[in-house]
Amino acid sequence: MNFLEERIIKDGGVKSNTILKVDSFLNHQIDTDLLNEIGKEFKKRFDGKPINKILTIEASGIGIACITALHFGVPVVFAKKSKTSNIGNDLYTAEVESFTHNEVRTIIVSKDYLTENDHVLIVDDFLANGRALKGLISVCRQANATVEGIGIAVEKGFQNGGRIIRELGYRVESLAIVDSMNAETGAVVFRDQEIY
Ligand code: 5GP
Repeated sequence: MNFLEERIIKDGGVKSNTILKVDSFLNHQIDTDLLNEIGKEFKKRFDGKPINKILTIEASGIGIACITALHFGVPVVFAKKSKTSNIGNDLYTAEVESFTHNEVRTIIVSKDYLTENDHVLIVDDFLANGRALKGLISVCRQANATVEGIGIAVEKGFQNGGRIIRELGYRVESLAIVDSMNAETGAVVFRDQEIY
């Protein structure tokens, strides 16, 4: 098991057969040492790619994105889920159905911060059905930016997002892939991945 899988076993919980609870270290209370390890690992896996921007979606992707960005020495852009008054009108937008809130939201990114000159690493905390990623990929396409890869902390391999996004031709690196989990027993089974 790698560091993230070990942490999920130690401090995570199975909230239902589809929701993994990691809010004591990843997306409510945040262990910054763990995020640092995640950022370091993304840097290792995507080393050599001409990445000049990290893109994520608010809110829970932002922490991982910022620490990853430190390792790459590049800025972070996060897609907003609501239009704030100071953002202007030159926007890329995409519709994203939220996994956790069960509603469709329009995500927005200012045209000032994503352009055809950008080589983007998309990062997020979870990959479930892939809708957040599809929205972020759509925004990159609108900007004619290049998606160099996608880094995910926890992929739920029993949902179909990972397959869909990989079939679109994107390289998705997930540090932990949960193949199954059981709310009654609390058991979490990870996919075997290359040890690193
Ligand atoms: P997707 O768009 O791939 O269906 O879902 C990804 C988004 O939903 C992520 O940005 C993440 O915030 C949220 N999410 C999906 N599954 C889980 C989960 O099991 N636990 C938590 N805490 N968030 C999840």
